[in-house]
Amino acid sequence: MINALQAKSMNTLRQRHNPLVTAVITTMLVTPWMLHANLVQDTPLSTVSTNPIAIALHGGAGTITKANLSEQQAQQYRAKLEEALLAGYAQLKAGKDGQYAVISAIQILEQSPLFNAGIGAVYTYAGDHELDASIMHGAERLAGAVSGVKTIASPIAAAQAVMNHSVHVMLSGSGAEEFAQEQGLAQVDNHIFDTERRLKSLQKAKRAIADSQTELLEFQDYKFGTVGAVVLDQQGNVVAGTSTGGMTAKRYGRIGDSPIIGAGTFADNDSCAVSATGHGEYFIRYQVAADICARMAYQGLTLHAAADKVVNEVLVEADGSGGVIAIDTAGNIAMPFNTEGMYRASIDIHGKMSVAIYR
Ligand code: ASP
Repeated sequence: MINALQAKSMNTLRQRHNPLVTAVITTMLVTPWMLHANLVQDTPLSTVSTNPIAIALHGGAGTITKANLSEQQAQQYRAKLEEALLAGYAQLKAGKDGQYAVISAIQILEQSPLFNAGIGAVYTYAGDHELDASIMHGAERLAGAVSGVKTIASPIAAAQAVMNHSVHVMLSGSGAEEFAQEQGLAQVDNHIFDTERRLKSLQKAKRAIADSQTELLEFQDYKFGTVGAVVLDQQGNVVAGTSTGGMTAKRYGRIGDSPIIGAGTFADNDSCAVSATGHGEYFIRYQVAADICARMAYQGLTLHAAADKVVNEVLVEADGSGGVIAIDTAGNIAMPFNTEGMYRASIDIHGKMSVAIYR
């Protein structure tokens, strides 16, 4: 096996993001081990020359149970998650930077009416859609986000453009739309995001709010449908992205955790990458995504221990429902949630795929 020191120096060098250096260092450090492995285990060189890659996705958490989801619906969700997963994985396999894997996977979910992102986004109280998205790259902690946008076809692509082509991290509303237009990103009418199902949810929410005088957002049927992706690319970078319509019947320009770096999305090659889904107000207050990574960095916790602590202890004590997907630079994947279900899928460093919905 590669020893810890070799692994650490490979990672440090891979973080610098120079493919040539990566190739040279990988050869220098890995070759003796590969030859040894070849002799002992007869492992073909080709199967060990590639750096590990892995990907995980979520499509929202909430009261998703076998009782309220038919097998046919569950199958549709699984198929779409798998399609997105394979699209992202193909980018990683081709050696592309992780951000392209995140974008490919999320765009497929944004285009599906099944999820609360892009087409299928929930409605605001006023009856339209305000979308939020963010992306963060672990190499240099570059990040981009858009919030409250109504006419950008792919909010995650706009977030990526902010990261790569602006000096800012977060753009909102009409300014973000103007920027997206300048970047040549597709603009659409807000109605393109309409779906019958989400309209019914809005009507139900409004009735409940009127009947019980419940404060907005206190009433939810707790089926979050935000989408997110986290990846480890061949260069050793972790990248996270999240895209959402927010929460049904949101008002007053409410922004949730999804476009907020540190709350709904975070990535740092020194610890991990996280994308969250759930009741955004809690995820902002508890800085969920950054807290998981900080616990790894400062407390030396494993990815699973850190993610589990925040989702199943910190958030549960605070009454914040939801879940996360998280990945570290070794390719470990954790997908804890404190709700009844979470649409999720992953391909680990051994190429093993899993797609799941319930506990
Ligand atoms: N976290 C999102 C928000 O609060 C909702 C979700 O995950 O579905 O805007």
